[in-house]
Amino acid sequence: MPELEEYVVDVVHYTSGFIVRKIQKNKALCKTCDSFLTVDDNNNQNSSKLFQLKNRGKLINVSSDVHKTCLVTEYIIRICNEDLLRKKNIKLILSLKALNELSSDNTIFNSKEIKEHILQQDLLDNHRSQLLKLIVDCYITLRLHHFAKSHTFAISGRNIRHNYTKQILFHNQ
Ligand SMILES: [Zn+2]
Repeated sequence: MPELEEYVVDVVHYTSGFIVRKIQKNKALCKTCDSFLTVDDNNNQNSSKLFQLKNRGKLINVSSDVHKTCLVTEYIIRICNEDLLRKKNIKLILSLKALNELSSDNTIFNSKEIKEHILQQDLLDNHRSQLLKLIVDCYITLRLHHFAKSHTFAISGRNIRHNYTKQILFHNQ
């Protein structure tokens, strides 16, 4: 598992709550897969402080499998940071890289329950790989959306300041 700063791990945990909520709301998962996304409130030792704070009242405790999947994806997004605005098919590139990284990590979505669940399924397209792809793609979409927004803001922010300075100069003449 690649290393990320502690606050990043916390933010990713918080974000993964949104991902789980989105997937549970919009995607028709089988009941067993759905149960792999969350853990019971009482059993969750690693729930982040930020997460508990922001979700008081309606707590979704994401499973460590979901959290780890999002962390790997975040790591990939960070090492590809330079390409985010340059490459057209960046979503696909990030998705493939993240899934490739995840395929070599046998600590993620690899419990006894999951192994049993996919035992009778297609080796290359089972619920485990579908679930991973769903989480990864959801995370990338959310992150790129946020990245594009903050980038636009940075650019337009500069423009506004620029015009504003001009106006002041004009006004004083
Ligand atoms: Zn399933």
